[in-house]
Amino acid sequence: MSFPYLPIEDAVSAAFWEGTRIQELLLQSCNLCSKYQHYPRALCSHCGGTDLEWQKVSGQGIIDSWTEVMRAPQEGFEAPYIIARVRLAEGPIMLTRIDGSSTKISCDQPVVLRWQPLSDGRALPLFVPVGG
Ligand SMILES: [Zn+2]
Repeated sequence: MSFPYLPIEDAVSAAFWEGTRIQELLLQSCNLCSKYQHYPRALCSHCGGTDLEWQKVSGQGIIDSWTEVMRAPQEGFEAPYIIARVRLAEGPIMLTRIDGSSTKISCDQPVVLRWQPLSDGRALPLFVPVGG
């Protein structure tokens, strides 16, 4: 499935998007409480700290919840497709897409990162079942 629009980038998320250009999944890590967070924020969502740094993470996770979209929300999307909450190995949940058939999808299923290139050189993180 091609992606019909470009995600908006801002000062807080710029490093995340730069990482996608070289297919590195970067999460913010807090130097005060050592926890990861996603999506990118100016403050740590756990302790409120502002000393955040970007860390490359594994790209491994499990499906926390998922649904199959049967009707395209707008022109340019090709339905059906699978939207999921993936709990990354480092802790945060990422709302993402699962590439593949819904007949192979279940909660707690291990998934691994893949990339969907965007027209401006960035890429979107999506996931596939391990072994799928
Ligand atoms: Zn923190």
